[in-house]
Amino acid sequence: MTPDLPKHQGQRLQLLAILRTKGIDNETVLAAMGRVPRHAFLESSFEEFAYQDVAFPIASGQTISQPYTVAFQSNALGLEAGAKVLEIGTGSGYQAAVLEELGYRVYTIERQKALFDFSKRLLAELGYKRMNQKFGDGYKGLPAFAPFDGIIITAAAPALPEELLDQLSPTGVLIVPIGAVESEQRMLKVRRGEDGEWLHEDLGSFRFVPMLKDVSSSR
Ligand code: SAH
Repeated sequence: MTPDLPKHQGQRLQLLAILRTKGIDNETVLAAMGRVPRHAFLESSFEEFAYQDVAFPIASGQTISQPYTVAFQSNALGLEAGAKVLEIGTGSGYQAAVLEELGYRVYTIERQKALFDFSKRLLAELGYKRMNQKFGDGYKGLPAFAPFDGIIITAAAPALPEELLDQLSPTGVLIVPIGAVESEQRMLKVRRGEDGEWLHEDLGSFRFVPMLKDVSSSR
C-alpha cells in the first residue's frame, strides 16, 4: 500500500481549499476528509490525480465518487458523532472511511464481490477497524442492525427505495440520488415530519452509477 507522504497531505489541504470554494463550509466534514488518504483507494496509475476533485474508475466498472459529492452527502446527513449510519454502495470504501472519521458507527453494503473484498482489505489495512462491511443487495438494507440514524445511498436509485425507509429511526434521514442513469439525478433528503409524514427535500443535481438489484454474479 502507498504510504501517506507529506506530498499527499499537502495535496489534501489543496483539495479542501477547492471544496471550500465550491461551497462546502462544514469544517467537521472537511477535517474528516483531510484525514483520509484518497490515493490509497485508487489504482496506482491514478495516484498523482487522487486529490483532484474528480470521480475515477475503480474495479467492476464502478467509480469512486468525486470528493465534492462525498463532502456534500456527508454534510447532508448532518448527524452527531456516535450516530449509526448505513451506506449502500461501498465501492472503493472511501466514503465509508470518511463516515468513520466523522465518528459514526458505519455499516456499508456492496453488491460486487471484487469491490467488497478490495475495500474490506484496504479499510482494515488503513486501521478502520470498527467498520461493518457486508456483501449483499443494498435494496434490502440491513434489517438485523436497524434502526439507523442515517442511510446514505452512493448509487443512483430509479425510484425511492421504500424498504429502506422502514430501517430509519424516527428522526433518521435518508440521502439518496434519484433518477435514470442516462440523465442527472436529484439528491433527495427524506425524513419524517412532525405528524409522521415523509418530507422530501431536493438538494440538487448529481451523477452516479446505477443502484442495481441483487448481488452481481460476475467476479
Ligand atoms: N461510495 C463509493 C462509491 C462507489 S459507486 C466510494 O466511495 O467509492 C457505487 C457503488 O454502489 C458501486 O460499487 C456499486 O457496485 C454499488 N451498488 C450498486 N447497487 C447496489 C446495491 N443494490 N447494493 C449494494 N451496492 C450497490
